[in-house]
Amino acid sequence: MAGYEPVIGLEVHAQMRSRTKLFCGCPTDYGAPPNEHTCPVCLGLPGALPVPNEKAIELAVRAGLALGCQVAPHSRFARKNYFYPDLAKGYQISQFELPLNEKGHLDIEVEGEAKRIGITRIHVEEDAAKNLHGIGSGAVTLVDFNRAGTPLIEIVSEPDLRGADEAEAYLKKLRDILMFIGVNDGNLEEGSFRCDANVSIRPAGQTELGTRAELKNINSFRFVKKAIEHEIARQEGVLQGGGEVVQETRTWLEAQNKTVSMRGKEEAHDYRYFPDPDLPPLAFDAKRIEALRQALPELPEAKRARWQKDLGLTEYDAGVLSAHPEVAKYFEAAAEALAKRADKMKASEAGKKVGNFIQSEVLRHVSTDGLSATFPVGPSAVAGLLAVVEDGTINGKIAKKVFATMVDTGKSARAIIDEGGFAQVTDKGAIEDEVRRVLEANPSQVQQYKGGKTGVLGFFVGQVMKATQGAANPKMVNETLKRLLDAP
Ligand SMILES: [Zn+2]
Repeated sequence: MAGYEPVIGLEVHAQMRSRTKLFCGCPTDYGAPPNEHTCPVCLGLPGALPVPNEKAIELAVRAGLALGCQVAPHSRFARKNYFYPDLAKGYQISQFELPLNEKGHLDIEVEGEAKRIGITRIHVEEDAAKNLHGIGSGAVTLVDFNRAGTPLIEIVSEPDLRGADEAEAYLKKLRDILMFIGVNDGNLEEGSFRCDANVSIRPAGQTELGTRAELKNINSFRFVKKAIEHEIARQEGVLQGGGEVVQETRTWLEAQNKTVSMRGKEEAHDYRYFPDPDLPPLAFDAKRIEALRQALPELPEAKRARWQKDLGLTEYDAGVLSAHPEVAKYFEAAAEALAKRADKMKASEAGKKVGNFIQSEVLRHVSTDGLSATFPVGPSAVAGLLAVVEDGTINGKIAKKVFATMVDTGKSARAIIDEGGFAQVTDKGAIEDEVRRVLEANPSQVQQYKGGKTGVLGFFVGQVMKATQGAANPKMVNETLKRLLDAP
């Protein structure tokens, strides 16, 4: 690093989970044929007037509250003027002097060290349309207006990040929170969570900021880290070679593993912002903000802490089970159902058992797409299976086989056990016969046990379980073995 300190600020554009666009009633669904979801407002036709989408703006307030922001009692939409083919009006409706949310923060942890990253502002704006280059027979560019007017929030951080690792941790946590509060689907591939990074370096110890370059639209966590690392190294090379870093917008070229200059970086005054005369200011009174705060879903960090405290999970388990909001819901529903079904089972015991089973058996069958997830069987079916283990009908090993059959057939654990002879052998006589057979077949191990090497008990248990193909009740096998071996 040769005495330089990187300074990084991130701007994240997150598409809000609203069924309709920000200023018209067109749907926001991804993947429709080009220009299907359009109307005079989002096509920017003269005379068409925007009407704010209340639901989308409430989602933006929710994001602000989850990230510790102050929600402005009065905020305003502004026009950001620039020309580009994907912007029919010649301006984007955004917010400038009076954003909806300000002064928030996000706490991250990198290599065990906690750090608070300031959030300057979270404002609401509409997305532009999409230019599609090189489409059809000729090398032409076409414009798809389906995306035009899609509601976004832009989350602007303070330049508090000091390395690519911190930037990555910040983005992951931000995405996690926005998904859990239902504001964003976290889908980087479809571009609903996009990141620009402002990167500069300065001699260590200097407080003044260096000249920054802006890295545009990096759409994977891996690329963010790589792009920032490369940009830091590039700027060091420039300064060490006696040159100067130029303020500009750069883009990350994954195939070539480098950032390249796109254009000189604009300043805010280049956009000639002014309040949008078609839209009245947004007003939120304290009562309404409080109601939205009360309605805020539990944040993932609080959820993990609660699971560790009440549901018997380790920090690691809690992390795995909260990797996606639907997996978290599934786990909670299954743990609750098991605690209800199994006699006298504590919530922490049910949580631990369900958590282990989901991690070892269920997760490999789960697929996620944005905010939705598909599970092989429902949470109550998993609870039903574990309840049968709990009452001793089958053991844990058989439960895995029964689960595989549940996944294949969609039948309940009970039905499969009744049909398939999976029930555990709990017949005392049958178990004792089997134990005697094993003891007779292994006289030298019996001598070892009697000579004080009680560790061989595990060997006998294994033999009996093998002979019964895992169907014997292990507790009864243990008891019978001890009884027969300890007899004079
Ligand atoms: Zn429209």
